[in-house]
Amino acid sequence: MKTYECDVVVVGGGPGGSMAAKYCSLGGLNTIMIEKKAEIGSPLRCAEGVSKKWLEEVGITPDPAWICADMVGAVIRSPSGHTFKLDESKAGSEVGYVLERHLFDKALARQAAEAGAKIMLRTAATGVIKENGKLAGVKARSMGEAIEIRAKAVVAADGFESQLARWAGIDTSLKLNDICSCIQYRMTNIDIDPEYCEFVIGSSVAPGGYLWIFPKGKGAANVGIGVMGTRCKNGEAKTYLDKFVATDPRFRNAQSLEIVGGMVSTCPGLECAVDDNIILVGDAARIIDPITGGGICHACRTGMYAGKVLVEAVSKGDLSKKALMPYEKMWRDRMEDKLYRNWMAKERLAELDDATIDELVKLISGSDIEEVNVYNLLRVIKERFPKVVEGFEELI
Ligand SMILES: Cc1cc2nc3c(=O)[nH]c(=O)nc-3n(C[C@H](O)[C@H](O)[C@H](O)COP(=O)(O)OP(=O)(O)OC[C@H]3O[C@@H](n4cnc5c(N)ncnc54)[C@H](O)[C@@H]3O)c2cc1C
Repeated sequence: MKTYECDVVVVGGGPGGSMAAKYCSLGGLNTIMIEKKAEIGSPLRCAEGVSKKWLEEVGITPDPAWICADMVGAVIRSPSGHTFKLDESKAGSEVGYVLERHLFDKALARQAAEAGAKIMLRTAATGVIKENGKLAGVKARSMGEAIEIRAKAVVAADGFESQLARWAGIDTSLKLNDICSCIQYRMTNIDIDPEYCEFVIGSSVAPGGYLWIFPKGKGAANVGIGVMGTRCKNGEAKTYLDKFVATDPRFRNAQSLEIVGGMVSTCPGLECAVDDNIILVGDAARIIDPITGGGICHACRTGMYAGKVLVEAVSKGDLSKKALMPYEKMWRDRMEDKLYRNWMAKERLAELDDATIDELVKLISGSDIEEVNVYNLLRVIKERFPKVVEGFEELI
């Protein structure tokens, strides 16, 4: 059997994996990133919306090659059609670019390769190698052949309900309540404002989640929905989306070019995202915003943190859980409060009926929010509907 040796093997070539591979390589580590698919970033499983603020933080320069549309604002719509339109000055950090995600992911993988990482496509991890009870790499199938990749450390960047982490003994399974089932159409021939992202909320529209319209240029958009796992039986997310599309006149002549399905976790991150010789990043560690389902920036940040911590740990020759704990501190210091707050908010908002959501949208549209983000919206809600934020007021 063919065997590879390296310092770090990264499993998964999404944003989390590429960033981890890049930062490991920049620090001089011999790094291999494996990806089970034949192409980085494809097939698409994403609405492609990101804010702009975090890119600099993780060292990514915006590039027109992977930016499909630059948003000037956002619209929040209630079930009965009340809208709250945020113009450019107020759109703030929650609004930004709609990506060409397949190109974005490739650009990140390219940066990892340029930093020195070896990328192996069509290479799926199938298990872990353990030696004397310690994690010592991964077993994989590469181009149909069984191989082994021996490594000092493994990065689990294999996304939702990480299998790799489970093989390593970390439980990443999720409760139905903590999952949103998503489906999206790439639509054309639609009559939407190409400069505004739209979010439609309400239990009759998207129970426990929301419906999105993210423009992809004039007359085209990603139109999708996420519905809480406990609120939808098999295939029901599609029923809700089809109902919306069928009744909204803007989609009268719509045609679909692509259908995308997927799952997002909507709970706070894993209790601990490190163990001896392993770090979990991005969706694998459930580090994703529980209210928006946005996880690209979190995957990039955690990938970067993992790379930096691994460089330090390898240089000291200690890859124990204790030695990798600085990674836990880094992501928790940066994101934990926000993830927890947004998880609580998601739980409460999921309980509200359409009439209350209508009231909330009317309320926020009449308020004087300087910059719109989840935090500022919750502050207004706290003032007028304190019950909604009971139990986590101190985080607002
Ligand atoms: C429908 C939908 C819409 C979304 N919309 C948005 C959005 O608009 N904005 C946003 O910020 N986030 C969005 N997200 C979330 C976002 O896509 C994820 O948070 C992000 O991709 C996480 O990056 P990651 O690198 O952790 O995991 P992923 O991007 O999931 O990458 C994991 C990679 O691992 C590979 N892999 C899995 N198993 C193995 C294996 N055994 N061996 C080798 N490779 C393996 C997979 O093929 C995949 O390429 C959306 C998600 C869904 C499902």
